[in-house]
Amino acid sequence: MLDKPQGTTALDRPVAERMPREIAPGVFWIGDCLAQRHKGKVYHGYNAAFLVAGDEASILVETGHPKDFPVIERHLNELFARGVAPLKYLFVTHQETPHCGGLGRILKTCPEAILCGDVSDYHLAFPQYEHRMRWMKEGDEIDLGGRTLMAVEPVIRDLRTTWWGFDTKERVLFPGDGFAYSHYHEDGHCGLVAEEAVSLDLPDVSSTFADLALFWTKFADMNVYCDRLDHLIDRLGVKTIAPTHGLPITDVKVTVPKVQAGLKAAALMPESGTNEKVPVAGAA
Ligand SMILES: [Zn+2]
Ligand SMILES: [Zn+2]
Repeated sequence: MLDKPQGTTALDRPVAERMPREIAPGVFWIGDCLAQRHKGKVYHGYNAAFLVAGDEASILVETGHPKDFPVIERHLNELFARGVAPLKYLFVTHQETPHCGGLGRILKTCPEAILCGDVSDYHLAFPQYEHRMRWMKEGDEIDLGGRTLMAVEPVIRDLRTTWWGFDTKERVLFPGDGFAYSHYHEDGHCGLVAEEAVSLDLPDVSSTFADLALFWTKFADMNVYCDRLDHLIDRLGVKTIAPTHGLPITDVKVTVPKVQAGLKAAALMPESGTNEKVPVAGAA
């Protein structure tokens, strides 16, 4: 959609210059990584946001982690300066902080923006914006001009109020906590799509993320969930997957089974507990 620098790929560019990244025409990946320690390793996770640009309006999917707001704001301003349609909508998949922690600041910074999705309880935190909240249910679409953002079945749902988003033009799925996996900063994975991060062991990092963040997968038959994911991907004709925590998936046929293998493996292991605590300085 927008001009790209000639002759360079994401792999050639320094990490800091990889974002915002257009992962499908008019769909921009923005935000930053978050480092977490687990079993002596430093894992990087994304708390990504995505801007979907139509002819008339743009929608922001997720807000990023609260710490990322300055980065999100800078990336958004860069895109608007390049001619992307103004931000008129915000869609958050659910109420957890890494997904909607910048909600108040986005609504304050973009006074035209309307919050869409399952908007339960947000008015309690932000009564001043209650008139800018619109309910969506499965199949509802927001018209952006030449494309729509649709609320679709949230197969891997973290909260009861979860909806997933779907861009009907480029067939991009926004699955929130679905397809959640970390990556390794030292291996240069930051800002790459899953297929470019060739040294990333997707089944391993998917199973670690499920272990730490999606405890219910221990008590569910993940074969059923994986079948349902396949069904959703087929039904919608998904071409690209834009997860909040994982690297974007641009080859659905090749990459989705690797993530599913991780979900199925994690379901068979006992829960390992939460992140390691960094020792307090001076403690014995
Ligand atoms: Zn999450
Ligand atoms: Zn990273």
